[in-house]
Amino acid sequence: MEKQRGKGHRLLLMPSPLQGHITPLLQLAQILYSHGFSITIIHTFFNSPNSSTYPHFTFHPIPDFLSDAEASTSDPIHLTDLINIRCKQPLQESLSTLLSHRDDDDDDEDSIACFISDAALHFTQAVCDGFNLPRLVLRTGGASSFVVFASFPILREKGYLPVQESRLEEPVDELPPLKVKDLPKMESRDPEAFYKLVCRFVDECKASSGVIWNSFEELESSALAKLREVLSIPIYPIGPFHKYLPEGSTSSSLLTPDKSCISWLDRQEHHSVVYVSFGSMAAISEAEFLEIAWGLANSNQPFLWVIRPGLVRGSEWLESLPSGFVENLEGRGCIVKWAPQEEVLSHSAVGAFWTHNGWNSTLESICEGIPMICSPCFADQKVNAKYVSDVWRVGVQLQNKLERGEIERTIRKLMVGNEGDEIRHNTLHLKEKANLCLKLGGSSYCFLDSLVSDILSLESSTSRSL
Ligand code: UDP
Repeated sequence: MEKQRGKGHRLLLMPSPLQGHITPLLQLAQILYSHGFSITIIHTFFNSPNSSTYPHFTFHPIPDFLSDAEASTSDPIHLTDLINIRCKQPLQESLSTLLSHRDDDDDDEDSIACFISDAALHFTQAVCDGFNLPRLVLRTGGASSFVVFASFPILREKGYLPVQESRLEEPVDELPPLKVKDLPKMESRDPEAFYKLVCRFVDECKASSGVIWNSFEELESSALAKLREVLSIPIYPIGPFHKYLPEGSTSSSLLTPDKSCISWLDRQEHHSVVYVSFGSMAAISEAEFLEIAWGLANSNQPFLWVIRPGLVRGSEWLESLPSGFVENLEGRGCIVKWAPQEEVLSHSAVGAFWTHNGWNSTLESICEGIPMICSPCFADQKVNAKYVSDVWRVGVQLQNKLERGEIERTIRKLMVGNEGDEIRHNTLHLKEKANLCLKLGGSSYCFLDSLVSDILSLESSTSRSL
């Protein structure tokens, strides 16, 4: 692939300001930068990315008018709704400046090829239409969960949604192998808000010029085939994004990773450690926290546990752990507030990842061939977990609410003895596919080539050149 095809062309990209969305969008920006495109990141003041990590990008903040109380990830649906409303005018003003203004700055030699928006920022479609600016979408979740999102109206019509406790074990005939309990769910102050947001972002994906996925054909071929029918626009599964970039070059962490856990991992035996992290937003009760703590301790496996401040509702950090808990582990447990996750997963001491199955974590685990223990919390995580356990068979799901006995048994089943062999075999097979798809002639390689060509032809077809 000719590496500088994007030279002289600028891309405007806008992330949704949540960790699991900022990271893949900035990774995509780096991938496209490496193909010659100039990059402008348009972002909210809230959770603004660290521009000093990307000196080769231009950063363009826009006001989001969020109060301190609103700028919180405790209700991400409400937050996203607010951003979709309040950023409309600032984005219009910003595009108006960027598209019309030229000064003596070198950056402005570039023509603007298109806008690439996170799917959750559905308002950007109408804004881009107003400027005749082509809009591509980045969907930061998987394709399989998107099929479920695109089916929301029919799922509601057939009575699967809203999810009813009495029907959790029923199969969803339209979406095998999902059961009602696997359907995406997300609490918000308005009970209808999640449904409305999903329907809206699916519609605005359909109205876009194409959707980019941080996934790969071999992983989600049947979902991608379905989406080609449902969306009738080009789709580009070009992931896994982080594997295009040198390890450590992609840090867009909003929290500072505690690297001391790497030297702790260096002292552990090969494939012995359970890495535990529930990502940047999930929250658990104090009772669940204690079940996790005792389950890990009783498993007798070494563990690295990310306890993010805010993970335990009502607690600052570790204060609800019984006194002496950490000391009694005698070095068998390492607790950090935030880990350098990619580095952790690629460390040879790690043998399993107990995850909430956010899409980034799921994909990062697949890429390193690490078997997963799944505790999905909300949104697409339940769908991802079902695919991990039942379709790709690279992990197991904790079936019940968090309980120390089940946790201990599940960890031992996966880590000790032969029961985990088949899962380990499957993870290595999938890891190989994840590596191959990026190589010359691989599926993601080819889709990226098409994406670059299509971006350039989108620009010429709308004559955006200034
Ligand atoms: N992550 C990290 N350190 C941690 C926990 C998570 O760097 O201690 C990163 C992880 O590598 C992933 C992202 O945060 O890229 C979390 O995204 P994901 O989609 O898994 O979950 P979310 O945070 O959106 O729920």
